[in-house]
Amino acid sequence: LSGKLNGVFDRLRRRGALTEADVAEASREVRIALLEADVALPVVKDIVSKVRERAVGANVIKSVSPAQQVIKIVNDCLVEALGGGEGVEQAPPGISLQAASPVPILMIGLQGSGKTTTSGKIALRLRTRDKKKVLLASLDVHRPAAQLQLETLAKQAGVASLPIVAGQTPLQIAARAMEVARGELYDVVILDTAGRLSIDEALMDEVAAVKAATRPHESLLVVDAMTGQDAVQTARAFNERVGITGIVMTRVDGDARGGAALSMRAVTGAPIKLLGAGEKLEALEDFHPDRIASRILGMGDIVSLVEKAAETIDRAEAEKMAAKMQKGQFDLEDYASQLKQIGKMGSLSGILGMLPGIGKMKAQLENANLDNTLLKRQAAIIGSMTPKERRNPDILKASRKKRIAAGAGATVQDVNRLLKQFDDMSAMMKRMSKLGQKGLMRGGLG
Ligand code: GDP
Ligand code: MG
Repeated sequence: LSGKLNGVFDRLRRRGALTEADVAEASREVRIALLEADVALPVVKDIVSKVRERAVGANVIKSVSPAQQVIKIVNDCLVEALGGGEGVEQAPPGISLQAASPVPILMIGLQGSGKTTTSGKIALRLRTRDKKKVLLASLDVHRPAAQLQLETLAKQAGVASLPIVAGQTPLQIAARAMEVARGELYDVVILDTAGRLSIDEALMDEVAAVKAATRPHESLLVVDAMTGQDAVQTARAFNERVGITGIVMTRVDGDARGGAALSMRAVTGAPIKLLGAGEKLEALEDFHPDRIASRILGMGDIVSLVEKAAETIDRAEAEKMAAKMQKGQFDLEDYASQLKQIGKMGSLSGILGMLPGIGKMKAQLENANLDNTLLKRQAAIIGSMTPKERRNPDILKASRKKRIAAGAGATVQDVNRLLKQFDDMSAMMKRMSKLGQKGLMRGGLG
């Protein structure tokens, strides 16, 4: 048994830390990839320095190259910069409708970015998925056909559009839209504004005035993914002059890698809420930071390779733990690192499953109330002990227990409960270990 386990550990043991040189080399590659993906230069610099900070000194995963490992770190940094990351991966940040009806949504952006199309897409989604009564209103009085374009889209989406009245200003149209929406009990009013080919004062004034008058719950900046480096200026200008609550990135069905998303998010701090992925009204997608990150970096294969290798290390650590349990050498220190592994590996019973002859005990352990808050509190309690106490909890006196409890934000009862649970577990492990030995004599690993 131990021979077999040692083999695994030899192959997977961390062989040290990533060096400056490893990181510098990989950083060059990463910088080029990000620039090719149209991420704005200041944002690239920022990401690269974050990566360097995190990568130098990181434990090396033996089965992948340092460069590959840095790429995985870059990927994690990108996911975070895009609003994702550990614990953030719940529902994508869709449009918020948490306001009194009718909820105004303002669509802003440069001409041709996809505002009108996206208005139709959002209307369709709100009608079909959220069962909302939606009114579309075009405030675009600059392009002759703009209001008709929105009317056509509204019909396709099966929602109402504000009747067109010639000669009104955007502000007048907006006021009329809100009035109609209140009178006819609409849930949502989508206000589609005009754009210009480039940012100008008149455009900003007009949008800002409409915003002040309607006080929209969401002000969505619509930006073409192909905009590349210009996305930063556009996003900054709109955010400073008008203020935005979210970003919709369109034309992700094209071959742009989507670096604009990263730049815009970095500059405005506003979340990317939706993606436009085609001309059809159905082509609206939720934003998933990890997907765009891997598209920007274009190294998805390497990222999953490293993830797999890291998982294997977790597994190897779990096996090491199982071996310790079997020898009856499991102490509170091990229990604490075990608590950290839970979540990554699934559960303690997952690790115990690696021990031979465990069936019945496993069920027993699963019944033991191992919920997450409890585990966290227990980890904190163990953290407040000295290493000596962790190896030999029997030396703990009442006064120490009190201090440990205080240090961990727990009660003395919590400390006692932990010690009792640990005692029970150790006893169980000793029994299991005997069973396991019998199992081994019958031949082999579990
Ligand atoms: P606006 O000037 O911002 O209102 O832009 P429009 O909504 O009129 O869109 C301009 C053009 O881009 C139209 O031909 C749309 O069909 C097209 N378009 C909009 N969104 C997307 C998208 O996500 N993907 C693709 N391929 N085309 C889009
Ligand atoms: Mg338009």
